[in-house]
Parts: sequence; C-alpha cells; structure tokens
Amino acid sequence: MPELPEVEVIKNIIEPHAKNQRIETIWTSGFKMRSQLTASEKEYVTGRTILNVFRKAKYLVFEFEEFLLLIHFGMSGRLLMYSRTTKEKIFSPKLKHIHVCISFELFDLYFQDPRRFGGLKLVSKSFKPLTDKYSEVIEFGIEPLDNRFSEEKMYILAKSTDRSIKALLMDGKKIGGIGNIYATESLFRAGIHPKTVSSSLGLTRCSRLVAAIKYVLAEAIKLGGSTINDFSDANGEEGRYTRAHLIYGRVEKKCLICKYTLSSVRQNQRRTVFCLKCQNK
Ligand SMILES: [Zn+2]
Repeated sequence: MPELPEVEVIKNIIEPHAKNQRIETIWTSGFKMRSQLTASEKEYVTGRTILNVFRKAKYLVFEFEEFLLLIHFGMSGRLLMYSRTTKEKIFSPKLKHIHVCISFELFDLYFQDPRRFGGLKLVSKSFKPLTDKYSEVIEFGIEPLDNRFSEEKMYILAKSTDRSIKALLMDGKKIGGIGNIYATESLFRAGIHPKTVSSSLGLTRCSRLVAAIKYVLAEAIKLGGSTINDFSDANGEEGRYTRAHLIYGRVEKKCLICKYTLSSVRQNQRRTVFCLKCQNK
C-alpha cells in the first residue's frame, strides 16, 4: 500500500506534467472501486484545467477552480503516464486492471488497480464529498513532515490515548500518511516497542520518535519510496528505499544492530516486526 513517501514521489513526477493542463476526456471502467467518479462528476472534470497538484496524507490531489479530485491508491493502485504518441502501450499485458484514464493533450494518465481498494473522488475544497450529502468530511491528521509535528505535538497525541503507539502512528485521523512500513521502521529507529501504551510515552521518547519518523519519511522520498507488492512510480521506476529498510519484512532474521533474532506481533491485522533487545527503551 503506497504510504506518504510513495505518494509524494508520484506527486513529484506528475506535477510538472499535469499542472495547468486541461483534461480532455476521462474514461472509467465501470467496475466497482472503493470510490469512483459518477457520470456527472466526469462531466464536471472534462475540459477543466488542473490548477495545482499536491499530496495530502496518502492522497494525490488535483485542484480545480471549485473542487478537488482525490486519488487514493488503496492496496495496489498506481498511476501510469503514457505519451499519447505511444498509446499502443495500453495493449501490453502489463496494462490490465486499468479503471480510469485521464487524457490530456500530450499524455494519458492510467489508474491501474488490480485489487480495486483505491479510487477517485471529487470533493469540495474543504474535503467534503459532493455525491453523498450525509458523508463526513475526510479527517486528516497532522502532516508528519510539517514543522508543526513536533515532540510536543507527539506528546499531546500520545497522552490522549491508551492504544498502542503503533496503532496511533497508523491512525490517519491523528497523523497523516504513515502505514505499516514507516511505522515499523520509525519505531525500530526510535527504540520503542510497538505495543507500548501511547500515554506512557514521555517527552524524551516522543522526541526520538518524531526525529525517527521525519528521517525515515524524508529518506524514503529521496530514494523514490519502497517497492512492496510491485509499487512503481508513474515512470515505472521501482523505489530504492526498500534496500534501506532496517527491519520491515525481516522477521526471524538477525537484528542488524544487535544480531538478536527479530520477533513479530500482530496488531490490527498487520504484522509488526521488532527487536526485543533494541526496542525496550
Ligand atoms: Zn536489535
């Protein structure tokens, strides 16, 4: 599942191509997705110019004059960019599971999603859904790379809950964009056990954790994200951060720091790898 760094990498590639470009046509597959544009939403988007491209938590956002188009990658979603002069590539076997095609003057943007947990959604500028008036505004937690995400902020968030610190880090309503990979890597680097009760964390551990999160996310963006379950960016490049993982996916291997055998624990249906010796501070 693409997390903050992978979506940021995609944003950095798409932005220079899509910003200030007019959408000529938009096609959808008709398959049921987590969310998909309605006929009238497609009509609205067609002919509009994208004023800005940005990332919000794990969403890629296209900003129009009145609305925002959100793209969520779910478990297996990705965007592929093709020049319109080499359009025959759509028939390559790798291009199955295309559920949206947004055509610009010079290129097509395909949304590919085999598992269909991702999707597109048109919302107001305050992130309120347009199609269902009873739907909630999407709640976003603090952006972890924002300066406001400080050790004091982490301390306040931690004090407010008795859930495990791993669950808190992955709660998008509290902190945006951190999933299993980056929560696992950050906790290891901060030396904090994933099952630690959040409210028991003091300022010292919060400070270590915030530093670890910011470092891990920034490094991951620099290296093009992590390739798990064949993530690749819009140019088809794999993320190089996978090689920088210290602990994610290494259960029962030796800890790279202390050589102790790594353990794992299941939390909220996700497996967290950790080191009993290094993560007890
Ligand atoms: Zn260790």
